[in-house]
Amino acid sequence: MTTVGFVGLGNMGGPMATNLAKAGFTMKVFDLVPVLIAGVKGAAGASSASDAASGVDVFISMLPAGRHVEGLYLGDSGVAGILKKDALVIDCSTIDPGTARRVATALAVKGITMLDAPVSGGTAGAQNGTLTFIVGGTAAGLDRARPILQAMGANIYHAGESGAGQIAKVCNNMLLAVLMAGTAEALALGVKNGLDPAVLSEIMQKSSGGNWALNVYNPWPSVQENSAASRGYSGGFLTDLMTKDLGLALETAMQSGSSIPMGSLARNLFTTHATLNGAGRLDFSSIQWLYAPEVRR
Ligand code: NAD
Repeated sequence: MTTVGFVGLGNMGGPMATNLAKAGFTMKVFDLVPVLIAGVKGAAGASSASDAASGVDVFISMLPAGRHVEGLYLGDSGVAGILKKDALVIDCSTIDPGTARRVATALAVKGITMLDAPVSGGTAGAQNGTLTFIVGGTAAGLDRARPILQAMGANIYHAGESGAGQIAKVCNNMLLAVLMAGTAEALALGVKNGLDPAVLSEIMQKSSGGNWALNVYNPWPSVQENSAASRGYSGGFLTDLMTKDLGLALETAMQSGSSIPMGSLARNLFTTHATLNGAGRLDFSSIQWLYAPEVRR
């Protein structure tokens, strides 16, 4: 049976690792926060990232940002020196394409294949095993990864060569930020003018303004029972992570000479929200506060 090492057991990595254990893979898991290690049922806890990497066939990371990924693989006690020569590495974190390519190149020198495989679908997708994987790397590497990814997700896309998965993910999240800010703005306008947010949401969902943020991740409290907005904006996808992704979009735009006026505005809105409202550790749909302070509790 394929053995899998998994590092980074936060909001996303924890449920993803749990689904792999449920699917029957032999797992060794590690996080800097010990209680998260114990939370992955059916997996052996590792004492360090190196311990999780030692002897495994496949090694997966799900970390916050590029500096964490670079440190994990290429840092002083990085796992690049621990992994088996024929190991397959899958980094599911959302990071800058440059770091993804740099780490993949350094591992390739040692004979290790690395894929960038950022995900979409949120914490619900991680828990339900319905994530979308957006993969950059070789087709042969993706073929090896498929049985692992299928145990955690419902859709797998090959975006192109190393780093391409991260570029596609950055484009997607920039669009999501624009849609979430626009949805919050439209709901606040309607409510200010006497409309019920649930009625307005239903009308727009069935009209041309319908979009994922409005339809399944509604930012107004109590419009949807299981939304982050209905639980005080806790958990979910943190505003800090969205501002990180919008920073990646800006970097990618600058490197390629692309104009991203809507993405730049979204980045400023979410950054203002994080700093002004102290909302960095809340779900990103709390951007609704900027437009309608009354939803803040
Ligand atoms: P999180 O902050 O909940 O989890 C990250 C985990 O990594 C933490 O538990 C932390 O302790 C651990 N960690 C950091 N450095 C480590 C190291 N050197 N060794 C071991 N563990 C380490 O973040 P998350 O929400 O799970 O997101 C992870 C990645 O997935 C991010 O890149 C994010 O942008 C992306 N993402 C998140 C969502 C979402 O809805 N939360 C959706 C899609 C993509």
